[in-house]
Amino acid sequence: MSAPKIQFIDLAAQQRRIRPAIDAGIQRVLDHGKYIMGPEVQEFERDLCDFSGAKNAISCSNGTDALLMILMAKGIGPGDAVICPDFTFTATPEVIALLGATPVFCDVDDVTFNLDPDQLPAAVSAARAAGLVPRAVIAVDLFGLPAEYERIEQFAAEQDMWVLSDCAQGFGSSYGNRMAGQFGDATATSFFPAKPLGCYGDGGAVFTDDDELADVMRSIRVHGKGTDKYDNVRVGQNARLDTMQAAILIEKLKIFPDEIVARNAIAKRYEAGLSSIDGLVVPHVPEGSVSVWAQYTLRVDAGRRDSLAASLGEAGVPTAIYYPKPLHQQTAYEGYPCQEGGVPVSSRLAKEVLSLPMHPYLGESDQDYIIEQVRKFA
Ligand SMILES: *Cc1c(COP(=O)(O)O)cnc(C)c1O
Repeated sequence: MSAPKIQFIDLAAQQRRIRPAIDAGIQRVLDHGKYIMGPEVQEFERDLCDFSGAKNAISCSNGTDALLMILMAKGIGPGDAVICPDFTFTATPEVIALLGATPVFCDVDDVTFNLDPDQLPAAVSAARAAGLVPRAVIAVDLFGLPAEYERIEQFAAEQDMWVLSDCAQGFGSSYGNRMAGQFGDATATSFFPAKPLGCYGDGGAVFTDDDELADVMRSIRVHGKGTDKYDNVRVGQNARLDTMQAAILIEKLKIFPDEIVARNAIAKRYEAGLSSIDGLVVPHVPEGSVSVWAQYTLRVDAGRRDSLAASLGEAGVPTAIYYPKPLHQQTAYEGYPCQEGGVPVSSRLAKEVLSLPMHPYLGESDQDYIIEQVRKFA
């Protein structure tokens, strides 16, 4: 049997489905010529509000700038500590450090891969011991699964802190009766092509139910504008979403609900095929949450992970390791504090995680082949 051609994420399959609509959308932008803040930007923002149930959706240049806009609007700066998970993409702590504030790395839960609420007090203690004021928690919805917001929000409220949801991987997910966009005080997401909802370039958005915060972020998005961009009332960014990307996202958002269903069906099939294997743990979704499966990430007994990845690679099954190095071990972040007691789970996960191909167009026969190759190794 010859190996099928399997993509880790197949964006071309999605494009084949909606290419005429995408072409028409791009054509409309070329015709009206409003490349910056054109009508598609407002239309897409209304669509985002309808989809997420958030009161305000503000599109922007990318997920990193989305995080930055929220922190800037909240006035985060030197002397402030912002707690974030040690096991996430570098953009999460990067925006904290960019503003002169201090990221404090908190450990994660080895079942959900997300911030462990039990560790938050030890992270706050580390911040105070370093002479910093703990101001906020950034919870990350890693691999598409919402963090444990109820406990995180409750802890933050008790400590007079606020919560930012880094939902770059989790847009479309839900937690209880809340959709992504309604997590924390404000939510940031990314439309990087490989994210669950992606455009054909860079893009992002912020969400909040706080109208005042939303107005400040709309100002920050365009150079801290007052009445217009030549009236500058604060230091801001150039963080707009291109009209062209908005036109593309309008079409992609229409099929997104359908794709979330497909992603969940694929995750179920992986679970059925892989959950009984010794030395391998499949991801678990807590009761009440719906993941969008940005990644389908296994935990493999340390020491066997790299050989499994190699054997899958030889069989034509692409895999990825998110993330090979926890943040506190990265050169750029060596100088920043970890929670009291350290971050042992994050350090261990970096040696155990392995992500399998996951996208809404992964066919059953390809998936069966992937499952068979994993079982063969195990
Ligand atoms: C992708 C990602 C970001 C950054 O998004 P960009 O659009 O690439 O800037 C931030 N946080 C997390 C967790 C991400 O996965």
